[in-house]
Amino acid sequence: MQIRLFNTLSRKIEDFVPIKQNHVGFYSCGPTVYHYAHLGNLRTMVHNDLLKRMFLANGFDVHHVMNITDVGHLTNEDDDSGEDKMEKGAARDHKSVWDIAKFYLDEFLRDMDDLNNMRPTDMPRATEYITEQIELIQKLEKLGYTYEIPNDGIYYDTSKFLDYGALTGGSLSGQRAGARVEFNNEKRNPTDFALWKYSPKDVKRQMEWDSPWGVGFPGWHTECCVMSMKLLGEHFDIHTGGEDLSRVHHTNEIAQSEPIVGKPWVHYWVHFSFLLDKSGDKMAKSKGEFLGMDAVRNRNIDPIIYRYWIVLGHFQSQLAFSFEALESAAAGYKNLVRKIADLMNDNSGEIDQDLYQQWHDKILAPVSDNLKTAESLVAVQDLLKDKTVNNATKLALMNFVDDLLGLKLVENAKKLHDLESADAPEEIKTMAQKRLEAKKSRDFATADELRNQIDNAGWTVMDTVDGFKLVKKQ
Ligand code: AMP
Ligand code: ZN
Repeated sequence: MQIRLFNTLSRKIEDFVPIKQNHVGFYSCGPTVYHYAHLGNLRTMVHNDLLKRMFLANGFDVHHVMNITDVGHLTNEDDDSGEDKMEKGAARDHKSVWDIAKFYLDEFLRDMDDLNNMRPTDMPRATEYITEQIELIQKLEKLGYTYEIPNDGIYYDTSKFLDYGALTGGSLSGQRAGARVEFNNEKRNPTDFALWKYSPKDVKRQMEWDSPWGVGFPGWHTECCVMSMKLLGEHFDIHTGGEDLSRVHHTNEIAQSEPIVGKPWVHYWVHFSFLLDKSGDKMAKSKGEFLGMDAVRNRNIDPIIYRYWIVLGHFQSQLAFSFEALESAAAGYKNLVRKIADLMNDNSGEIDQDLYQQWHDKILAPVSDNLKTAESLVAVQDLLKDKTVNNATKLALMNFVDDLLGLKLVENAKKLHDLESADAPEEIKTMAQKRLEAKKSRDFATADELRNQIDNAGWTVMDTVDGFKLVKKQ
């Protein structure tokens, strides 16, 4: 099936043509592990996973690399100033930088698992690639792209790279006009950025390394260049990240890589739109208060519901988070699971291969066409309504839907089905029988009392045409 993706570089939806047949290499900018991931970061991670699953469903062999940023990322990315986020996080938590990196990475992986995101093929950490980052800066130095700001660091001269800013459609002069008024006066151009920052003379940093230029730490943009090229090769298919990354981080990654490896370094740039908070602002860790996966778990909402809500949207549209929206997604998800559980009551037929293929393609086509996941769920609903498809075929297709969208529909439907098929103990059945008789003789007080007793014993009694049904509570 032809895959199409919106490429930020061309600002168009393009047919996807892989560098190597049936293989896709893609790199995603991962989390900075100085705090819990917020729901916005996690939205981006779900989109990465949906992209990966779409390629797998189309028969591709996928190499997915996601880095872990555990060093050298300053609070003000526009002008390489401010505090180091990792050191700031360590001071806040009264732990070492290395300890918080480990702690928040483990928390991040728990969130990834709860959201049913497949683990990336590789998850390299910036601190493991310091030598390679120094080598990259040395290459740029040899090619004449760098200069030093004494007592500050080694900078990249963006005026030397003619295509600077092409990713977001701006030229260097365009960016300069829109750049912040205040900037480091010693920079040659407002868009220049740090490749290597010196450790401050009066402060002992927890993370610092020797380099040909002096003790310090690499600028944030170098890590993604070296890790992606080391693991995916000098040229690879796709680079992803949240929409905030295109203007500075990815623009600078291109400026560092293309002088060394030639153009184009990466063929497709895919940027995922923001999750907004209640006030309509970008959800951000730097705001201090933000919602993480725990906010969802603490309300007894399964994280898979958050994933379902994301699947109902599109990666190029911003989404405003609210618990009301999540509750309504929960109702929709439950409804879907209910319908699938009902299929399990009788799935004795044979899978109809022709119908399977037709519906498989109807479900996969919108996802392959620029990841229109919501449209694929519409096809799923149509399938469930279609009386010409037997239950066995529908269930086989639901397994495919789970592979494609990672929604754990069949797993949850099975749980529901098993609960409902569980045989109630004799005393519960007797109580339900007595309740039925009380209702028949219009003794509603006794009927209600018995319902409560059954409920307290962990069962729900439901009226049916020919009597009652007992369902074990979850
Ligand atoms: P960070 O941990 O801040 O380095 O971000 C990890 C990933 O989350 C990056 O790809 C960011 O672009 C993305 N991201 C950050 N904020 C948001 C947001 N509000 N909505 C969606 N993605 C975001
Ligand atoms: Zn990156």
